Amino acid sequence: MTARSLFADHALLPGGWARDVRLDWDATGRLTAVQPGATATRGIPRAEGPVLPGMPNLHSHAFQRGMAGLTEYRAEAQDSFWSWRSLMYRFALRLSPAQLEAIAFGLYVDMLEAGYTSVCEFHYVHHDTDGHPYADDAELARALLRAAARAGIGLTLLPVLYQTSGFGGAAPAEGQRRFIRSTDSMLRLLDALRPACDAQGARLGLAPHSLRAVPPEALRDALAGLAAQDATAPIHIHIAEQTQEVDDCLTWSGQRPVAWLLDHAPVDARWCLVHATHMDADEYRRAAATGAVAGLCPTTEANLGDGLFDLPQWTQGRGAWGVGSDSHACVDVAEELLMLEYGQRLIRRQRNVAATAAQPEVATAMWLAAVAGGAQASGRDLGGLATGQQADLVVLDAAHPVLAGLEGPQMLSAHVFAAGRQRPLAQVRVAGRIAVEAGAHPLRAEAQRGFVQARRELLTGGA
Ligand SMILES: [Zn+2]
Repeated sequence: MTARSLFADHALLPGGWARDVRLDWDATGRLTAVQPGATATRGIPRAEGPVLPGMPNLHSHAFQRGMAGLTEYRAEAQDSFWSWRSLMYRFALRLSPAQLEAIAFGLYVDMLEAGYTSVCEFHYVHHDTDGHPYADDAELARALLRAAARAGIGLTLLPVLYQTSGFGGAAPAEGQRRFIRSTDSMLRLLDALRPACDAQGARLGLAPHSLRAVPPEALRDALAGLAAQDATAPIHIHIAEQTQEVDDCLTWSGQRPVAWLLDHAPVDARWCLVHATHMDADEYRRAAATGAVAGLCPTTEANLGDGLFDLPQWTQGRGAWGVGSDSHACVDVAEELLMLEYGQRLIRRQRNVAATAAQPEVATAMWLAAVAGGAQASGRDLGGLATGQQADLVVLDAAHPVLAGLEGPQMLSAHVFAAGRQRPLAQVRVAGRIAVEAGAHPLRAEAQRGFVQARRELLTGGA
């Protein structure tokens, strides 16, 4: 029998760093005891470095990993999110179920090696290439479930409701044909997916794509239908990624998107506001007070030229937040945190902006906040190293040259701010089970082969 315990010289608990921590979990992978000041016992494995809570990735479009790095050239006089999106649509229109599964499997293996132990999949490619439902309407969602199960990563599946191409009920564009669903068909899809999600411990939620893609009646009906199925299910929405989107929402409703949402939907702690990038002071204050999580995707938001979220304004209102790798131009927890903090430093001309009174170590403060917010957005018990939470763990490699000789908190700082593109992770566990050992996932070679083949097919038009 494999041990269901681990001894850590340093572990990052929800309240901060603790020494000599013994962690125990049960057969389902739930922590049953977290005991600081324990004595190392023979037979209990000793972690090779500081133990961190595994990071939930709160925003992913898995298929976009296949086009990472392929849109870094100038196609228009002034490239923007919108020119990137047209390239992304061309890619999405070719994708087969087998290619999606191969890309997602490769991505999820990468995520585990990067310290993400679970992922919220914002899944919007539903139909076949002609825009017709597959014989099994859940075909592509099931491909994601299989990819996650095979990689061993936790999953919150968020099928996306997408109906219009702009505010005011504008008809969908031809390039959006694989995304479009009626509200009823979405609720049937959720019903159909529930047994498979339950069987692998995945959480099922709903993602109204954005206010530009979901008219008010559809939003209202979908939320009511979801609540009838599961009153606590997570709800994610892209809310204010682009200034163009804010302007269009103002033209349509006289309100900015976040203000409109807060006035017309029951936003609360079930919600994740993805890319709440463009808010005024009133929206920051009101949205934070709802208990919703701000879904921040710093490297994607930088890559797409979206704009900067004002983290201190959000945390002043006690707003919760977490991070996602979104378009997967970058798949690395440390880089998301670094990019988030550096954006704040550059705009404020200050340092250690995300540190708090309780946590002056900025990497520690950020890691804990992102785990708590990510867990809430995932709708799963992923809230860190505490009894009752899932044993999702990341063990830093204390012998790695970037970390060797440092203390626990310094090792996390070095991992986030000084590792460059090196990755000093020794082990990653999901629900207590080892997913990554000596920095590598056991299925890495197979996952990479499948990913490369699927990408080649998509780029050359083969199948
Ligand atoms: Zn997104």
